[in-house]
Amino acid sequence: MSKQKQNENIDNLISDFSRFYILTILYEGPAHGYSIISQFKKRVKKEVSPSLVYPFLQQLEDKGLVTHTKDLVGEKERKIFELTNEGRELCTTLFKRFAELVSIAIEPSLYVCAHCGCKVYEGAYREVISGKEMAFCCTHCARSYKDLKNY
Ligand SMILES: [Zn+2]
Repeated sequence: MSKQKQNENIDNLISDFSRFYILTILYEGPAHGYSIISQFKKRVKKEVSPSLVYPFLQQLEDKGLVTHTKDLVGEKERKIFELTNEGRELCTTLFKRFAELVSIAIEPSLYVCAHCGCKVYEGAYREVISGKEMAFCCTHCARSYKDLKNY
């Protein structure tokens, strides 16, 4: 699939957060429609309507992004939905794009360890070194930093 076509696909499909979240559930593994709905409720703490979930799954299936197998539970036949390779690929692209957006949004609140340069999201270890407050990811990095600078 071309990059452009892939992006179009994403934009058409992911018009809201609910659909995005359904994809993250599918990404973790095959699921029945109702288990998608209950997973959604558990994690997002919000109801998602079956009238959103099932047509969305159908749409994904029409585009070859999802496939289903049938599972017989007692007398009842249930569909188990699963991402196709193409579907997984699209999700990876989508999640990457989303991660980039998120990291831009939280960047101002990030600390960078003065020793190793890793990003610290919260709970940075701080130490005042020669009058300047420095942030480190851990005490070990603070130690190494001081060793290197001969403080
Ligand atoms: Zn560090």
